[in-house]
Amino acid sequence: MSYTITIIPGDGIGPEVTTAACKVLEATGVKFNWEIGEAGAGVMEKYGTPLPDSVIASIRKNKVALKGPVTTPIGVGFRSVNVALRKSLDLYCCLRPCKTYPGVPSLYKDVNVVIVRENTEDLYAGIEYERGTPDAQKMLKFIAETRGKTREDVGISLKLISEFGTRRIVKYAFEYARANNRKTVTAVHKANIMKFSDGLFLSVAREVAKSYTDIAFNDVIVDNVSMQLVRNPQQFDVLVLPNLYGDIISDLCAGLVGGLGVAPGANLGEGLAVFEPTHGSAPKYAGKNKVNPMATILSGMLMLRHLKEFAAADNLEQAVAAVIAEGKDVTYDMKMDKSGGVGTSQVAEAIIKKLK
Ligand code: NAD
Repeated sequence: MSYTITIIPGDGIGPEVTTAACKVLEATGVKFNWEIGEAGAGVMEKYGTPLPDSVIASIRKNKVALKGPVTTPIGVGFRSVNVALRKSLDLYCCLRPCKTYPGVPSLYKDVNVVIVRENTEDLYAGIEYERGTPDAQKMLKFIAETRGKTREDVGISLKLISEFGTRRIVKYAFEYARANNRKTVTAVHKANIMKFSDGLFLSVAREVAKSYTDIAFNDVIVDNVSMQLVRNPQQFDVLVLPNLYGDIISDLCAGLVGGLGVAPGANLGEGLAVFEPTHGSAPKYAGKNKVNPMATILSGMLMLRHLKEFAAADNLEQAVAAVIAEGKDVTYDMKMDKSGGVGTSQVAEAIIKKLK
């Protein structure tokens, strides 16, 4: 049997890390037929959009994709391809397991926390009003009528959190905990300040928790969890968060377990899954055979689990762990002093050699 998978190389370091991941995945013995989907700044001229419809259609057809990072211009230019992809396929869950493999450059041992980030709502809903535009003025007029006058020179981004969106992400977190033998789900919020958005998130999370009596539930404020994660990350098991906090806390957790080079992820919707590393396109390293492919390779490992290829997934994970533990064929970011290290393709070759 062969799996047809949409592969989105992306841009920057994306093509290098996805090539490395495809080679390693093929070496597990599982058969793949890769269907290439071009996306990112480089395809604007060819298709008139950084995210052609054909890419979305390919993922809908194949149900599973492996994706490299795509650059988003800051402040100006097109909106994020990553956000657009998640929204158009309703990939409502971003799953980011953060686990320390012995030998990673980290101050911590035995961290094993899973981030379940809501992926479609919150400040990422993309509803924004540019300072000084007629729409922004209309909004300000409404705010003045209902809440009192504010400054006029403001840009506005709306934070939208729904009961529907919260219920399904919190349910996902509990189902994940149950299926993966996890003990506790912690909801992260700032409900003390944002009573109607984060407050709704918290109250729905508490209600959902009542149906999962076999899993413990608690909640913590986002600033507190940031401090607690740095002091004692081992106390956390599964964290469920609204979109923005999930984005920030997953980078923090990536830092706890050795950095972005080893932080995998999955974007999940109803019957659709797009696997991608947590890191971005790191443009300064593009084409240099320098960066760590492990985050993308471990995203491939999550993909194998999703495909129920458990033996291949275990084999791949132990091969990555063995290369990390040996500490010889690893990239610069895996060295405590951030110097030396082998290239992207050499890491892939070393992992292939460790496969059983
Ligand atoms: P980044 O993750 O691309 O890079 C930040 C730094 O982390 C790099 O300079 C590098 O030092 C290190 N790093 C990242 N990946 C690494 C790897 N595999 N191995 C070793 N070191 C690595 O973050 P950024 O610079 O903030 O973003 C660059 C671009 O990527 C932006 O346009 C951003 O919007 C985009 N981005 C895309 C995605 C995605 O496609 N899902 C995610 C995050 C950022």
